[in-house]
Amino acid sequence: MDQRRAEPDSGTDGSPVTLYGEFTATGNRKVRCAVSLTERDLIVQRLTSAPIGRSKAVLSLRDCVGCRAYRPHDNEDRAAHLSAYFYPLKRRRMSSGASRQRVEQCFRLAALQDPRANLDEAEKWARAVRERCGRNRLLADGMLTSQFSRPCRMMLLVNPQSGQGQALTLYNNHIQRMLNEAGVPHTLVITERQNHARELVREADLSQWDAVVIMSGDGLLYEVVNGLLERPDWEEAIRTPLGILPGGSGNALAASIHHYSGASPVFSEELLLSCGFLLCKGLVSRMDLVSIHLSSSPRLFSFLSLAWGFVADVDIESEKYRHAGAARFTVGTLVRLASLRIYKGKLSYLPASKAHSSEGGLRNNMTLHCNNQTSSPSPAPLLCCQSGDSPCQNTLHNSCHSNNSLKVWRTESTPSRSATKAVPGPPDSLLVPLDQPLPSDWVVVQEEDFVLVLAMYQSHLAEDLMAAPEATLDDGVIHLFYVRAGISRSALLRLFLAMEKGAHVATNCQHLVHTKVKALRLEPHSPNGIITVDGEVVEYGPLQAEVHRGLGRFITG
Ligand code: ADP
Ligand code: MG
Repeated sequence: MDQRRAEPDSGTDGSPVTLYGEFTATGNRKVRCAVSLTERDLIVQRLTSAPIGRSKAVLSLRDCVGCRAYRPHDNEDRAAHLSAYFYPLKRRRMSSGASRQRVEQCFRLAALQDPRANLDEAEKWARAVRERCGRNRLLADGMLTSQFSRPCRMMLLVNPQSGQGQALTLYNNHIQRMLNEAGVPHTLVITERQNHARELVREADLSQWDAVVIMSGDGLLYEVVNGLLERPDWEEAIRTPLGILPGGSGNALAASIHHYSGASPVFSEELLLSCGFLLCKGLVSRMDLVSIHLSSSPRLFSFLSLAWGFVADVDIESEKYRHAGAARFTVGTLVRLASLRIYKGKLSYLPASKAHSSEGGLRNNMTLHCNNQTSSPSPAPLLCCQSGDSPCQNTLHNSCHSNNSLKVWRTESTPSRSATKAVPGPPDSLLVPLDQPLPSDWVVVQEEDFVLVLAMYQSHLAEDLMAAPEATLDDGVIHLFYVRAGISRSALLRLFLAMEKGAHVATNCQHLVHTKVKALRLEPHSPNGIITVDGEVVEYGPLQAEVHRGLGRFITG
C-alpha cells in the first residue's frame, strides 16, 4: 500500500484530509482507489479507469451509519477489509422527492506482509470514520460536544401481526443488516398477543436496556409507553429512550419522526429505511406525553392523538381493510364520507396561552449513551450534550393573565378521581375531577354538534396525513382540531385531501377550528360511539386530558 499523508488542505470541502490511503476495491482487485477522509466526507477516487461507474465519489459522513474492519474468510489471504455503510438521500427517478438508499464502500488493504498489520490499519480507518460520522451529526444539530456514542443493548419488539403481517419480513430484509452495520446489538422480541409488550416492559429489568424500539404500528408503542408508566419506578422508566420502525398500517409517529428530520415525505419501505437510519444515528430528544382520564378505566398515557367522531370511526371501521396497508385509511375515509354522521357532545379546553408553564421550557437533545457501567443506579443512561432553545416554546411563556386565580385553584385542587386510582405516573396539575365543574379560565366550545374532534401532539395522523403541521416532538402543546356540523361531504373530502400536505389549516374552511391547548375535556352525549387514543379504542364516555411536556425520550436521529 502506497500510504502517505496528503497535504492538509487537499479536502474538497476545504477541510483537511486526516487520512489518506490507496486500496483496491473489494470484489475487483484490478480497481485501485485513492481514499481520503476529511472531517465531513469520505472521498473515493478511482485510480484505474473502470468500464462503468463514476471515477470519483464524495460520501457525506452525515449519511454514514457505521464502518468496520475485518479479515477475509480465506486465512491464506494477508489482506484486511474495510466496509463503510452510507444511506444518502437520492432523488427518485419517477417521482419528485428523495429517499435514502444504501451505498456500501468496501476496500481491500494488503500493502503489508503481516495480516495483523493490515487489520490494524483497517481498524484505524474504521475508528476514524465512525468517530467522524457521530461528530458530524452532533455538529449538524448545533451541538458543541464531540462526544459520540450509539444505541446499544436495544430491545426490539416486533409485532408479527401488524399491518399486512410483514413486520418480521421487513426486519429480515432491511433492519437486521442496517443495525449490524451500525454496530447496534439488539435482542429481537416477537410479540405473541395483545398486551404482551405492555406486560414485558412493565416487568423488565430496564438497567439491562439502553433503548426499547418497536417495529409495528403505533399500537405497540402505545402498549410500551403505558407499560413503562405503570411501573412503580415510572419516573426513571419513562426516560428509557424509545424508538419506532414502521411495520404496521398506522405508522403516524414514524411519519412524524421522519418529517421532523426535514426530509421530504416518503412511504412504506422508504419510510422504514429513513426511520432505521435515524435510529442508527441515535440522537435522543424529549417527547411530550398526554395523560388521559376516562370515567371508570385507569388513567392512561398517549403519545400521538385522541380522536372522537369521523377520525375515530374511520380508524376502527377500516380495520377490515387491514390487508390494504396504509391505504386502509383512504378507503375508510371514503366509506365514512358516504354516511357522514353528526356527533353530539360538549368540548372544553384550557388554552395554551393561559396555562402557566411549570416545565423548564427547554428542548434537550441527547446522545444515546452506550453504558458500560451496568451497576449504574440510573437505568436510563443518557448523556446530555447541550440543550438549545426550541423555536416553539413561545406559546409556553405566554403566561396567563389570570395567573393568580390559576395558582389558587391549583394549590387547592384535589387530585382527580381517576388519578388517585392509578398510582404511578406524574400528577395532573391542570385537571379537576371529571365530575366537577371546570375552572373559570377554561373555554367551553359553544357548538354541541361535531363531525370530528381530534387532539394531536405529533405532526402526522397517518403516513400520508399531516394533521398538525406545526406540531413538534416536545412543544408541550395539544393541537386541538374540531369540525363543526354543517360541513358538506365535498368540503370535508377537500380537507382530508389537503391534509396530505398539511394544507388543511390554511384552507380557511369555516367549519374547521384549530387551537393550541394544554388540557381538554370531552363529554359525548350520544350513548354509543368510538373514542381512540393513539389509534386504539378506549372506554367511550367523558374524558379529560393534560399534556406533560417532554416526559418521554425518543430516538429521533
Ligand atoms: P397496526 O398499525 O397494523 O394496527 P399496531 O402496532 O397498531 O399495528 O398493532 C395492532 C394491535 O395488535 C395492537 O393493539 C397491538 O397491541 C396488537 N398486538 C401486538 N402484538 C400482537 C400479536 N402478536 N398478535 C396480535 N395482536 C398483537
Ligand atoms: Mg407536540
